[in-house]
Amino acid sequence: MVCLTPMSPSFADLYARFEAPISALDCGERCAPYNERGVPFCCDTRHTIPTAYMAEWEYLQANTDLWHTYQAPDPAESARLAAQVPEGQVLIECLGHKLCQRGFRSITCRAFPFFPYVTREGEFIGLSYYWEYEDRCWVISHLEVVTPAYLMQFVTTFEALFTAYPQEREGFRQEGIRMRRVFGRRKRAIPLLHRNGKCYKITPHNGRVRRVEPQAFGLHGVYQVVEKLPIDGERS
Ligand code: SF4
Ligand code: SF4
Repeated sequence: MVCLTPMSPSFADLYARFEAPISALDCGERCAPYNERGVPFCCDTRHTIPTAYMAEWEYLQANTDLWHTYQAPDPAESARLAAQVPEGQVLIECLGHKLCQRGFRSITCRAFPFFPYVTREGEFIGLSYYWEYEDRCWVISHLEVVTPAYLMQFVTTFEALFTAYPQEREGFRQEGIRMRRVFGRRKRAIPLLHRNGKCYKITPHNGRVRRVEPQAFGLHGVYQVVEKLPIDGERS
């Protein structure tokens, strides 16, 4: 369990300050048709399982029946997942996207598909995304839709979390290292939505950044395929 410092914010406050939608349109309507269950990928535990900080989990249990702890289908899967959960967090599952309560979405729901990009030196400079979802998440193929309000609220929320849980900054610094390693091997630049509101490409081997338009990263997965279909010329 993680101890909160006296400066830690309450999750009621954090939730109230991180409520801006990721984009002006409902991105779930864009991705759900490509999930065989017709559910937005980030609301389907076959694709992603939310986590909650222990204090967050206590807040949720006290205020809503939306969530329960996630139970994997078999013990081997449970053990595999348990090994991946950061210390002081718990895997959770909601009642389903049709019963979503926006005000009680976890921080992981609100942040998806992004994580705070922390440089090797420990500076939180903006947002990058969990690239494992490039093939499914419509937002990742359309970074231009991310609103300034969402970006700002994401940054202030994670600043508050890093104050409350200093080890989280290090966890995301490690995630940045992992991303640079993977993207370096693939000879790809890392997309960054900088906290200054601009978009940049990061060169993995030296961390150099250069300004680009968000569309520069192109489409991925099914969205790239749909774009090429002869009948539908519109960008999906
Ligand atoms: S964040 Fe991505 S996966 Fe989640 S609903 Fe939006 S487009 Fe779908
Ligand atoms: S709480 Fe809402 S946003 Fe979060 S996983 Fe459930 S349906 Fe999706």
